[in-house]
Amino acid sequence: MDVKDRVIIVEDDKSIRNFIRTVLEANNYDVETAANGTEAYSLITSRCPDLVILDLGLPDMDGAKVLRRVREWSSMPVIVVSARTYERDKVEALDLGADDYITKPFGTSELLARIRTAIRHSRSSYPSPNGGPGGRYCVGGLVIDYDKHRVFVDGKDANLTQNEFKLVGILGKYAGKVLTYDFLIREIWGPNMGNNNRILRVNMANIRRKLEKTPAQPQYIFTEVGVGYRMLDV
Ligand code: CA
Repeated sequence: MDVKDRVIIVEDDKSIRNFIRTVLEANNYDVETAANGTEAYSLITSRCPDLVILDLGLPDMDGAKVLRRVREWSSMPVIVVSARTYERDKVEALDLGADDYITKPFGTSELLARIRTAIRHSRSSYPSPNGGPGGRYCVGGLVIDYDKHRVFVDGKDANLTQNEFKLVGILGKYAGKVLTYDFLIREIWGPNMGNNNRILRVNMANIRRKLEKTPAQPQYIFTEVGVGYRMLDV
């Protein structure tokens, strides 16, 4: 019998807190809860959880503040839960180091999938697209070969340019996780490009033409509107 993964749920809304707790306990997680930021921070520091589910709207402080404090000393996976539909809140949370975000209302299968992905990523080492250890990322008919710097779709070389490969490579490295436009631009073109999303959009359009059967309905790289892109997870 495996040791259960410990999840801390930070949520001031009692019904949502109990709902998440019930779902997670039914799926074999060890659950603890906090109803405000102060309680959350002391629980997180004392319990060393495998994952934190963090509501952004807390009564005593912004959830983002809790995240910022946790990130000063730990890279434990944090999934931000938000009722807010503002894209800038999601971008801010991701830039502060959240592993993922989920918007209320959400379904149980979506929540469980995000949790599994975040915990798995925290435990595995991934191949680096910029040298370092090689390896492959395979999902569906897509293969990213980090040694050869090539991407194959259904066995055929997609003939990506160097920057296109870097983009697909980094999305594969963090598959399942949304990467913000700013993060991708910084990674591929460096800090001096600013937040020029146009160059990213142009590259992504070319990538989709090469990888996707129907570029308008992608099956490998998804758009998170106003936030960034996410690669299909295994
Ligand atoms: Ca709340």
